[in-house]
Amino acid sequence: MTDSERKGAVLPAAKEPGDAVLDFLRLVMEKKLADAVILPLKVPSGDSYAWILMNDISLLDDAVPIAATMPVHGAKALRSLTRKGPGNLTVIAVMRPCEIRAAMELEKLGQVHPDNLILATYDCPGAVQLQKYVDDPAGSEKLFTEMMQKGKPDDSAKPVCHYCENFSMFDSDIHFGHLGLSDKEMFVIPGSSKGSKFLEELGLTPAVDLSAWEEGIDKLKTDRKKARKSAFEETGVQLRGIDGLLSVFANCIGCHNCQSACPICYCRLCYFDSETAEQNPDALIIAAEKRGGISLPEDRILFHTGRMAHMSLSCVSCGQCSDACPVSIPVAGVFSYIADQTQRTFEYIAGRNDGDPLPLRQFRKSELPGVHELVKDADAEVSSHE
Ligand code: SF4
Ligand code: SF4
Repeated sequence: MTDSERKGAVLPAAKEPGDAVLDFLRLVMEKKLADAVILPLKVPSGDSYAWILMNDISLLDDAVPIAATMPVHGAKALRSLTRKGPGNLTVIAVMRPCEIRAAMELEKLGQVHPDNLILATYDCPGAVQLQKYVDDPAGSEKLFTEMMQKGKPDDSAKPVCHYCENFSMFDSDIHFGHLGLSDKEMFVIPGSSKGSKFLEELGLTPAVDLSAWEEGIDKLKTDRKKARKSAFEETGVQLRGIDGLLSVFANCIGCHNCQSACPICYCRLCYFDSETAEQNPDALIIAAEKRGGISLPEDRILFHTGRMAHMSLSCVSCGQCSDACPVSIPVAGVFSYIADQTQRTFEYIAGRNDGDPLPLRQFRKSELPGVHELVKDADAEVSSHE
């Protein structure tokens, strides 16, 4: 379906976008089109959110579908639900676009099974940085409401949100469009054949022209593209050479929080936390003798470059790694910059659900012709020895 052919249905008026989404989900549950819903709920202390799988419709009263901040990435919630395989029950999840995109990547990696999931997303204005939210939950909620009204991130938002281009209509089954519309209006838009069927069963016919809303989204995207270009130029200068890399990660305490918070780092045991990565003390002393001294714990830079090599093709620039860093290293800015380059090399967009496998999982002769030549040379050498 091309953008110009895309149509939406108008959801009944509600106080604000989150309420309209809740009304939609109540209808879904009443019509028994889903067995359960996954949504954020405020934790009892009120200073954070948790993902809750709920099938009691009354719990929807306390849910916050468009939450101000992201303590745990939604793709991790979906992974914990479906890692073993798809269940028989239908579950609808409402998440930020970067959460749905990470779920798509995890599907390609066999970690999420979306067969019986309906994935819904919405126009995301940005998310408040976790530490700022924890420091002042009420103030952050107020700032987030303003972000929703303006459709733009402010200073309280994660830095990566300022240059995220994929904040709307990105390969979910259902999308809720509200940016640029009046408070009382929201579009529900099918994004897949599964989503179209679901809306049809719900009695919602997508017949409304979306061009005015789409124009507003395109304008916001243009602004984000510009911001992305200048952010990457700045990061490129900071990261120049090994000294640049060492300086950006100079304060790293090696806690690996960035890896634990990342939705894409799914290994149950990371190499860098395994016994294999443990160093022989004599080897370390020899290295210290050679260089005059080495910093401990060792391998902090190798940890970051290793993680880049493992997952930058799938990085969705969600910013969770920066939120998790106790010493304020701009991890997400660095990883987004590197991801932009690796993904452009393979003409790949992380989170796209177009049937394309992850690059490097399937070798195509047309990509990286230099590598193809190397493979040919190696094959010729092997044959000459046979
Ligand atoms: S590396 Fe950081 S920005 Fe990229 S997906 Fe992981 S947590 Fe998100
Ligand atoms: S969270 Fe920060 S300090 Fe911890 S390993 Fe990652 S970059 Fe280093």
